[in-house]
Amino acid sequence: MSEANSGTGRQHEDGARAREALSGAATATGESTRAVRAGLPQPVKHEPTLPGPVFAAHFHLPGDPTGPYTYGRDENPTWTHLERAIGELEAPGTDGVETLAFASGMAAISSVLFSQLRAGDAVVLPSDGYQVLPLVRAQLEAYGIEVRTAPTGGDAQLDVLDGARLLWIETPSNPGLDVCDVRRLVGAAHARGALVAVDNTLATPLGQRPLELGADFSVASGTKQLTGHGDILLGYVTGRDAEVMAAVRRWRKIVGAIPGPMEAWLAHRSIATLGLRVERQNATALTVAEALRDWPEQLDVRYPGLPTDPSHKIASQQMRGYGCVVSFTLPSRARADRFLDALRLVDDATSFGGVRSTAERRGRWGGDAVPEGFIRLSVGAEDPGDLVADVLRALEASAG
Ligand SMILES: *Cc1c(COP(=O)(O)O)cnc(C)c1O
Repeated sequence: MSEANSGTGRQHEDGARAREALSGAATATGESTRAVRAGLPQPVKHEPTLPGPVFAAHFHLPGDPTGPYTYGRDENPTWTHLERAIGELEAPGTDGVETLAFASGMAAISSVLFSQLRAGDAVVLPSDGYQVLPLVRAQLEAYGIEVRTAPTGGDAQLDVLDGARLLWIETPSNPGLDVCDVRRLVGAAHARGALVAVDNTLATPLGQRPLELGADFSVASGTKQLTGHGDILLGYVTGRDAEVMAAVRRWRKIVGAIPGPMEAWLAHRSIATLGLRVERQNATALTVAEALRDWPEQLDVRYPGLPTDPSHKIASQQMRGYGCVVSFTLPSRARADRFLDALRLVDDATSFGGVRSTAERRGRWGGDAVPEGFIRLSVGAEDPGDLVADVLRALEASAG
């Protein structure tokens, strides 16, 4: 980033402050400590701990148009703080890592794919990933890019890597909760000259750090557990290669897929409680998964934190937390609908990761290869006993 030109405008002070060393998070070792301080500027007397959102379409800019803050589609100080916060969580203590915030997870995902791929390139996508990926696939193919797919489980993407320019991994996969071996796939992809992006939405940076596992990009929707209140859409890309990230940044500028300052600020504010939320939600998710596993009906419960889960072995090697999503399958669509209807503490709603538990019959959307009775349950911050009781009562009530 170019230095601000000479002058005494306030933007220079703001820019200088944004570039300053951080106020402690970078040296913290505990996850919650890091989360509460992440991205905060050095304390300034009479200024708030987390500066408020900067609403600006343009910044005072006399003379040559140099950064850091020129026009609101290119940069914003509120994004800068948030991007630093996410970068500290995705790759603590690592220099040269860059994070870019986006308007949504899909904006972030698209920016990596469309900035890195050209007509004639091949890309490998998961066949069981986020439900919008098939639409992305159609668009990539319309631009002359070859798209190959393979499931997440069993590292099946290994078999279709030859000649690919980019490997896209989603682990744990949404909604099936399969896990692949990121280090192994990265090794194979890099040996073939392919870049690797990991969708880190479900794990959050506290649960998994893709860059430490060798990936070139960690990409995520911040709409889910990262911000955790079900009230904003946000996305981000963290990467380690300045040239590659410059292309992603250029794509954000071209497409204008930028977060609003209010959303960026709310996201940063919410990250302060990420450690607390992840700890509670993930622990309760395991408790709920165990209760479902012990239910007399066979429910095909999936949770990577369950020692008996097919994903557990690899998950335990590469993840620091197993997420707040539990999936299971009821015998029919009608039973699943009755179950959802009987829940009192769990809203029938899509998305996941929020402090209020949600669940949905995933098959209602079409597009995911799941049974009709498949339920994706997102565990919130309620008391574990209340939540387990509600789920078990709804199972009982819907059985008849
Ligand atoms: C929700 C989600 C996305 C898309 O994020 P948006 O913020 O809704 O655009 C991408 N990947 C995964 C795994 C998701 O769950």
